[in-house]
Amino acid sequence: MKPAFTDLIGNARLRDRLRDDICADRLGHAYILEGAAGSGKHSFALRIAAALACEHLSEDGYPLPCLECPACRKIMSGNSPDVITVGRSDKATMGVDVIREMHADVFVAPNELENKVYIIEDAQTMTVQAQNAFLLILEEPPAYVRFLLLSDGSAPLLETVRSRAQTFRLEPVPQDVLADRLTCTEPAARILRNANPSEFDELLMASGGSVGQAKALLDPKQRRAVLDEREAALTFAMLAASHRGSSPVLAFLGGFGQKREEAIARFSVMLSCVRDLVLLKQDENAPLCFFHDREDACALAYRFTSPELLRLTAGISEAMESLRRNANLRLTLTHFALRTGLLS
Ligand SMILES: [Zn+2]
Repeated sequence: MKPAFTDLIGNARLRDRLRDDICADRLGHAYILEGAAGSGKHSFALRIAAALACEHLSEDGYPLPCLECPACRKIMSGNSPDVITVGRSDKATMGVDVIREMHADVFVAPNELENKVYIIEDAQTMTVQAQNAFLLILEEPPAYVRFLLLSDGSAPLLETVRSRAQTFRLEPVPQDVLADRLTCTEPAARILRNANPSEFDELLMASGGSVGQAKALLDPKQRRAVLDEREAALTFAMLAASHRGSSPVLAFLGGFGQKREEAIARFSVMLSCVRDLVLLKQDENAPLCFFHDREDACALAYRFTSPELLRLTAGISEAMESLRRNANLRLTLTHFALRTGLLS
């Protein structure tokens, strides 16, 4: 079997599956690649397009795609007229106009390659009208066309679209694999791991197993912002565990700033912290998504009862929901502190 998508990491089953389908010439017309921002959707999509066009596709001794032949190079550099990226814009939604424009192009035969690949970015932002227009193309696409819809999964696509496409979910890359890759390819990662191993571990945890996110966090400014939020979440958990009276709690609440979106983001990190503690209460070996030091986390979880942790989880979720419904920030924070027993 050809080694497949060798420059990507993680998602081994997906890579094998795509290799088998491409080599057997049974790739479907439409795929939905679902995964968080930075999880590698675009990298996968480009490589699928390259694999379809690779001049060494049927030769042993080359990985798929080879990334060296002229076809692969042209696609990977974004210069192939037959690999078309659709929908990359600053707009919050993708309207029917974008799909109509694509519709006209779909029926023009490929320029150079046997296939024409459309990579639809942020497919979750397609309006219902746009999805219905897309459905018209999906019902009877020309044989040479492949659609790769990239979605972060935040809004589900219409069932009618999903039923005509295969969905592949990109899994987070395991931390050790991610650490190896980063230190191999990024000098900044090597420096950080040597100078501050604990901060490097924090970065891996904060990346959520996303290569793109991990690379972004190598930038000290971005990393600082994320680490500050993680620290705030940990402060909150310590406060809740220690029942230390009102003034540290008020100081913590005062640190929330004025913006609702930022408060929601802070609550969401707090939620992932508390969720880890809930899981650890059930099973000390549970997979964690916030704590990088399991021993520390277990010690902290031990200081709570399960009902206390569930009350915190419910309080955070409720506060986030209220803020999303435009509730007053200060009132929400006060209610949150009373509801969770931080303030009595
Ligand atoms: Zn090639």
